[in-house]
Amino acid sequence: MAKKVLISQFSEESNSFNPIIRQISGFGGVSGDNMITANQSGLTVKGVVDVLKNAGFELYGGVDFRSGSAGPVSNETVDYFLEQTKQHIERVKPDCLMLVMHGATVSESSGDVCGDMISELRSVVGEDVVISVSFDLHANVTEQTVKNADYITGYQKYPHLDHYETGVRAGQRIIDHYNGEKSYLSYGAIPMIAPASGYTTSTGKLKLLMDKGHKYVADGIIKDFSVFQAQPWLDCPILNSSVVVIANNKETSLAISLELANLEYDLKDDLFGNPLSPIKDVIEFALNNKTGKPVVIADTADSPNAGATGDSAYVIEKLLPYKDDLRCALVVNDPAAVDEAFSIGVGNYGDIMVGAKLAPKLSNPVLIKNAKIKSLHDHGFFMAGPQERGQFRYPGKTAVLLVGKLNILLCYHAATIGDRSFYYSYGVDPDFCDIVSVKACTSFRAGYEPIAAKIFNPATPGAANASLLDLPFEKRPKPLYPFEEIEKIITTKIYRNKD
Ligand SMILES: [Zn+2]
Repeated sequence: MAKKVLISQFSEESNSFNPIIRQISGFGGVSGDNMITANQSGLTVKGVVDVLKNAGFELYGGVDFRSGSAGPVSNETVDYFLEQTKQHIERVKPDCLMLVMHGATVSESSGDVCGDMISELRSVVGEDVVISVSFDLHANVTEQTVKNADYITGYQKYPHLDHYETGVRAGQRIIDHYNGEKSYLSYGAIPMIAPASGYTTSTGKLKLLMDKGHKYVADGIIKDFSVFQAQPWLDCPILNSSVVVIANNKETSLAISLELANLEYDLKDDLFGNPLSPIKDVIEFALNNKTGKPVVIADTADSPNAGATGDSAYVIEKLLPYKDDLRCALVVNDPAAVDEAFSIGVGNYGDIMVGAKLAPKLSNPVLIKNAKIKSLHDHGFFMAGPQERGQFRYPGKTAVLLVGKLNILLCYHAATIGDRSFYYSYGVDPDFCDIVSVKACTSFRAGYEPIAAKIFNPATPGAANASLLDLPFEKRPKPLYPFEEIEKIITTKIYRNKD
């Protein structure tokens, strides 16, 4: 008889330093069995569905809760997701539960939302139902998770260009399981965090580590591996990076997870990337830039992709004195300022205070005097990609201010503002600017590198500050690199699939 797989999704990347709690209304998705047939091309659920359907599994949709990065989630959201998923478990009585998760989620009361959910659902389904979980590369994979999940599969690419492939890999573990193949999942925690702007898997030493894992898979030595470089803006008692290896031999699984964990440990300084440039150096570079291409400022600390509010006007403040010299594309989330611009009207001028209304402790408001309301918008845009190409985004009502040569976009809640089509869609062409500011960590690079004279990571304030030592961590574990030195990893462990 065909095995029944129930798929639920809970995806939100939290930033503890963003003070705004993400409520249920901030989540979208297609729940119920329509989740199986909904067009989710390129996404993890679709990868799972395609591979399992092809292998003859019976697929059911549970709860689909998806949100962009944001502040901690409300307890109500967590409870509602669990309650709904339990109802679907009762309805379907699945042989296997597939949970598609981000994995770096905190709530009002818990620092390990995904671990709690997996643990709770394990107690509901019992020990015989297979639980397979997929995570983002930035997941905070805890011991609680590993004790309760049979299979764990993480993205292997950052920027994340392998959502679909991750779903396929997760599905393959389920197929292997029902083919009677032995699998040993070993896990090693690494007590370190690093700013997400400091590394990618496309270049550098992290790529070499990933290449090593891929070689073990290609040579048939292990079945799968995941390297989790935990999202660093989680202020919670259990926080670690980790490695997961799945192999059909216990010793191999343990040995290779230990090797990869130590290689990841060895990267602890490299992952921090280049030191942040003072913003005055960036402006100086732009003033002397003769390439005809824009200088890109990555305002990573205020990146909504990393859960920040996007409401810091710090870069705007620093560029205002150069408003007659530098053509700039700038952005800030500020619903009240948008409303003010709408009331002033297109073509008119006004003084508008912008920024620091959502996370007032992290940056300062900036007064923009005699701003011309260049245009007003209430439409979304399609992402140019390559990451999430073709996905529709709606940043809410948007006003474009013009002050000298500064084009300042005020948005209600722009989130994916590292995508190149963002500025184009509001009548500002980044190609012809001297400076383009993007509130993004790494996702923007693939789109902007071809047109940029140079990309800078200046020191700026925000909830996703790359200077981790400057953030007000209160609940983090100790020791945790870079706050304390850490020991080399001496052991990895298998928690389930024991003989
Ligand atoms: Zn991520």
